[in-house]
Amino acid sequence: MEDFAFECVQCGSCCREDREYGDQYGYKRIPLYPEEAVRLERLAEDNEIELHLIEDIVFPDTKNSRIQVLTYRILLDNDEKRCPFLKNGKDCIINERKPRACLAYPLSVKNEDAFTMRIEIDPLCEYTVRNLAKLQQLDDALLQTVYPAEYGHAMEMLKRNKRAVFKLLALEKEGKIVIPKNIERSDYTRYLQTWERQELKTDDDL
Ligand code: SF4
Ligand code: SF4
Repeated sequence: MEDFAFECVQCGSCCREDREYGDQYGYKRIPLYPEEAVRLERLAEDNEIELHLIEDIVFPDTKNSRIQVLTYRILLDNDEKRCPFLKNGKDCIINERKPRACLAYPLSVKNEDAFTMRIEIDPLCEYTVRNLAKLQQLDDALLQTVYPAEYGHAMEMLKRNKRAVFKLLALEKEGKIVIPKNIERSDYTRYLQTWERQELKTDDDL
C-alpha cells in the first residue's frame, strides 16, 4: 500500500453533531476523565461558557450500591449541537488544554462491552470519509504510521481504561465489589438515579 498520513482538513466537524453519514445522523462523543472534567469546568467558568457534562462510562457496583465513574462526556445540547469550546465553526478556544480524546481524534477507544475495548477510527471524520477505501485496509501497525500522534493518545486512553477494568476485577476477586455483567434496563436506570458516585482511578492515573 502507498505511504500516506493523516492530514486534518480543519473542517471542525469532530466538535459538533451536524453532519449526515450514510443514513445515520452523526453522533459525537467527547469523553473526559475526571481530572479533565474538572479542568474543563474551570476553563468554562473562566471563559463564561456554559458547559454541561454527563457521566459516560460507568460501572454499577451492586454490593455497595455505588456507581463507579470512569469517564464523563460533553453534552452537545446547545442550538448548534457543538462543543461549547468551539468558536467560528472550527476553532477550539482551549486548544492547548483540550482533553486527550480530542488529541487522539479521529482515533478513539471503542468499548465492545464493559471489559473488551479496542482502538478504532471515527467514520465521521472528514479525512476518514475522503480516504475510507485506504483506511479500511489498515492493520494496527499501519494505524500507528498513518496517525502517529493520535495513536499515542488513543493508546494511553486504552491503557487507562484497561487499568480501570483490572482494578474492578481485582476488587471483585477480593469480594469488595460486585459488577454484574448483565443488568436489566429498569434496574440500571434506578441505580443511576439513586446511588452515590465514586470516580474510578488507579494510582497510575494520578
Ligand atoms: S474541546 Fe476543543 S477540540 Fe475538543 S471537541 Fe471541544 S472544541 Fe473540539
Ligand atoms: S473531522 Fe477530521 S478532518 Fe475534520 S477537523 Fe476533525 S479531525 Fe480534522
